[in-house]
Amino acid sequence: MGYGQVTHCSNCNDEQECTLGAGMAFGDLFNVIDNFPKGAQNKIKFISSLHEIEQQDLSYEVFECRQCDTSHSRLHLTIKYDCKKRFSPNYRCSECKHKLFRSNRLLTNFKCRKCKKYALQNSKVSSILWD
Ligand SMILES: [Zn+2]
Ligand SMILES: [Zn+2]
Repeated sequence: MGYGQVTHCSNCNDEQECTLGAGMAFGDLFNVIDNFPKGAQNKIKFISSLHEIEQQDLSYEVFECRQCDTSHSRLHLTIKYDCKKRFSPNYRCSECKHKLFRSNRLLTNFKCRKCKKYALQNSKVSSILWD
């Protein structure tokens, strides 16, 4: 079951929902393939046409932009195939276009994407479940 974490900016009142976790449909990668960038979709199709995918790790995760210090929810995927090969899609920051990295930081430690201040708090809407 996936969930959403909502943050509230105490400076500009902006609310952002960060989608996290994995849903029921995630057992089959091709159920959610439309959620990846076009280039990654083609690569996944290419790999799976040539190889059996040995292992996949698929869920919404927090990614961070180290350039503008904002958080972004992206669909994380790692697939293993052909013994030792791995593929993961790359994502870019929607604000500044720099590369995103997976993050373990709390959402409230990032800058607000709207006003660029460090003023995020966890919203009273504590979690939203989806699947
Ligand atoms: Zn703000
Ligand atoms: Zn950025």
